[in-house]
Amino acid sequence: MGHRNWSKRTQAVHGGTRRSAYGEMSEALFLTQGFAYPTAEAAEARFRHAGKDEFIYARYGNPTVAMLQDRIAALEGAEAAFATASGMAAVNGALMALVKGGDRVVAARALFGSCLYILEEILPRFGVEVVFVDGTDLDQWRAAIIPGTAVVFFETVSNPTLEVIDAAAVVAIAHGAGAKVVVDNVFVTPVFSRAIEQGADLVVYSATKHIDGQGRCLGGLILGREADIHGPVETYMKHTGGAMSPFNAWVMLKGLETLELRVRAQAAGARAVADALVPHPRLSQLIYPGLPGDPGYPQFPEGGTVLSIEVEGGQEGAFRLLNALEIWQISNNLGDAKSIATHPATTTHQRLPADRQAALGITPGLIRLSVGLEDPVDLIADLSAALDLL
Ligand SMILES: *Cc1c(COP(=O)(O)O)cnc(C)c1O
Repeated sequence: MGHRNWSKRTQAVHGGTRRSAYGEMSEALFLTQGFAYPTAEAAEARFRHAGKDEFIYARYGNPTVAMLQDRIAALEGAEAAFATASGMAAVNGALMALVKGGDRVVAARALFGSCLYILEEILPRFGVEVVFVDGTDLDQWRAAIIPGTAVVFFETVSNPTLEVIDAAAVVAIAHGAGAKVVVDNVFVTPVFSRAIEQGADLVVYSATKHIDGQGRCLGGLILGREADIHGPVETYMKHTGGAMSPFNAWVMLKGLETLELRVRAQAAGARAVADALVPHPRLSQLIYPGLPGDPGYPQFPEGGTVLSIEVEGGQEGAFRLLNALEIWQISNNLGDAKSIATHPATTTHQRLPADRQAALGITPGLIRLSVGLEDPVDLIADLSAALDLL
C-alpha cells in the first residue's frame, strides 16, 4: 500500500503496508527466517528471480522488513531502501558496496567515532585512500575531490559539535568529479531531510535513534536509487549478514507512525532549551543550528533535536553538571523520548587522543544534549539548577 502523492505524515502511517489474508489493522510481525515453496520448481524459480513479494530467507528479505523499507523510502522520497542490523551496518554497507581497492574517498573530518573507525582503519586496509577535509569549508572539498574520486562521505550535521554541511554544494562538487555521495543523515532525521532532492546518492540512518525513538532496538537504513539499492547495496548486505531482524523492523515500522509528531515536539523542546540557556553566564558555548546566529542556521533552520553546550571548568565542571541532573539521563543514545546528556570526550569519542579531540572541538567541558519528550519547562529547570551548582 502506498501512493506517490501522499504527504510524509500519511506515508509514515500507511506507506509500504502489506496485509495478510486476515486483514489485520496493525502491521503483522512475520517472525520467520524462512519461507516454504509449493514445489521444487517454485523454489528453483524464486532463487533465479524473486519478485517484490517473494521471499527466500530473512537475511535477504522478510515481509515485515519489506514494509519498513517501503515506508521509509516513501517518506524520504527515495526509490528504494535496505534495512540493516544497526546504523553502523548501514554506514559500512553503503561504503563497502561502492568502493574497491585503489579508490579514493573524501570525507568530512567531524564524524561519529565508529564512522571514523571505518574510514580511518578499515578502508585503508583494503587499499582505499581516504582524505579528510573540514566539512564546512567548500574550498577544501573542491581541492580534495579530484576526478576519479569514487565516494564522498559526510554527516549532514556532525556529532557532537553540530557542524552543518552545505550538502547541495558538496554534492555538486562531487558529481562534477564523477563521485557518488553517501550522507549520514541521523541528526537531520527523515522529518527534516532534503538529502534526496539535494542529490545524495545514498542516504544512511541509524534507526536506533529517532526512528525507534524509544530506546529499544538497534537498526539502520540505506536509501537511494533502485539500481544502487537493489544492486551493489543489497548484494553486499545479503551476503555479509547485516540484515535487520523482523522483530526490530516491526518496532521501527510502528516508530515511523509517530516519528513526525515526536521529532517536531523534540525539536521544539530543543529550541526552548537553547532559548532559555543563551546567554548563560556559566556556559562558554552553546551550539544549536536552529538559532539564527548559529553558523548552521542557513542550512538547517529547523535545528533538530540535539544541542551541545560547553560549561566552564572543563571535565570537572561537566561531570558536576551531569551528576546534578535529575531528569536528563547520563547515556549515549540520542533521539530518544527520554532526554539524554552525554560527555563525548570521555565516552563516544574517548578513543581519540586529546589533540584530535581538540581539533574536532570536543573539549573537556562539552556536553551533548538530546532533547526528549518531557515538558521543556521541567528540562530547563533541571538544567538551570545543575548549572547553578557550577
Ligand atoms: C548512532 C550513529 C551511528 C551508528 O548507529 P548505530 O545504530 O548505533 O549502529 C552512525 N552515525 C551517526 C551520526 C550516529 O549518531
